[in-house]
Amino acid sequence: MATIIDGRAFAADLRARVGEAVAGLAARGVRPGLAVALVGDDPASGVYVRNKGKQTRAAGMNSFEHKLPADTGQDELLALVARLNADPQVHGILVQLPLPAHIDEAKVINAIRVDKDVDGFHFENVGRLSVGAEALPPCTPAGCLLLLRHQLGDLTGRHAVVIGRSNIVGKPVAQLLLRAHCTVTIAHSRTRDLPVVCRAADILVAAVGVPQLVKGDWVRPGATVIDVGINRVAAADLDAAGDAAGASGDAGASGDAGASGDAKPAGGATRLVGDVDFAAAQQVAGAITPVPGGVGPMTIACLLRNTLLAACRIHGIEAPAGL
Ligand code: NDP
Repeated sequence: MATIIDGRAFAADLRARVGEAVAGLAARGVRPGLAVALVGDDPASGVYVRNKGKQTRAAGMNSFEHKLPADTGQDELLALVARLNADPQVHGILVQLPLPAHIDEAKVINAIRVDKDVDGFHFENVGRLSVGAEALPPCTPAGCLLLLRHQLGDLTGRHAVVIGRSNIVGKPVAQLLLRAHCTVTIAHSRTRDLPVVCRAADILVAAVGVPQLVKGDWVRPGATVIDVGINRVAAADLDAAGDAAGASGDAGASGDAGASGDAKPAGGATRLVGDVDFAAAQQVAGAITPVPGGVGPMTIACLLRNTLLAACRIHGIEAPAGL
């Protein structure tokens, strides 16, 4: 049976380490601050933003929340970003995605000061990551790498297969793995013989958004499986598919649920599952992240880490060791 990689415990430890470093900065007169802008009233985004605020304050940082109505104009949002860019109390700026359709997401993201772009989505940060320069890495991919390093140590030479090529998960995970000297294969919806591709992986990262796509026999014996997927499904569907684990009810309070942008639907038992058939893969893998409780909690922890790193860079302070 695979080792279960406990992302919840790792994230709690990382948040505690960030908190200690924040306390250390106080002596130098620096208190990191994270500003989050939320446009509209999507309930899942609202939960996620509240969680971010709570964890930011718990780490000893300033949290600034800007809730704007759904009909906020692009210019108004850009004006807010400009104010936050200039605000010396703000070291990290995050605009919660997705934005309403009338706003050009790329324009807003690229208006954020690069050194305050704690989501790592600014095109300059994307480019810096790809050429191997210093950059704030996107949070969920950074969380995947921290879990992998914790589990495996040096990743050099390992064959990593990433399923998914989105700009927010698949591509940056692949870049980070490449930086860690893995041999990287990126698979997507047009990949032929996906099970065969996956079976070649020492490290298999699934970032797809298709419930339990990866079957047990897609996993190479002993491989490390990182399941980024967060899918809310009706428990009855899983039971019908012979899922042995059964419905666990609501996981809505966890970071995972919020990160998915997926609100719990009214009525009917549901549960969160990943992109990997956990029960089957667990029999074959060497180590595996569960859903929930794997990658999900790492996202906000890495956001706090990025905010701390941004504050250090902005104030010309060396980043604390061990983060
Ligand atoms: P996207 O929908 O943006 O990308 C999905 C990727 O999967 C695409 O590249 C797509 O290929 C590929 N894909 C879709 N279907 C298949 C298939 N049948 N076989 C192979 N590849 C396929 O999703 P995201 O990257 O934003 O998110 C992926 C998952 O991660 C979701 O479940 C999401 O909820 C979760 N997530 C979790 C986070 C966390 O904090 N843990 C944070 C962010 C996301 P193509 O490009 O060809 O269309």
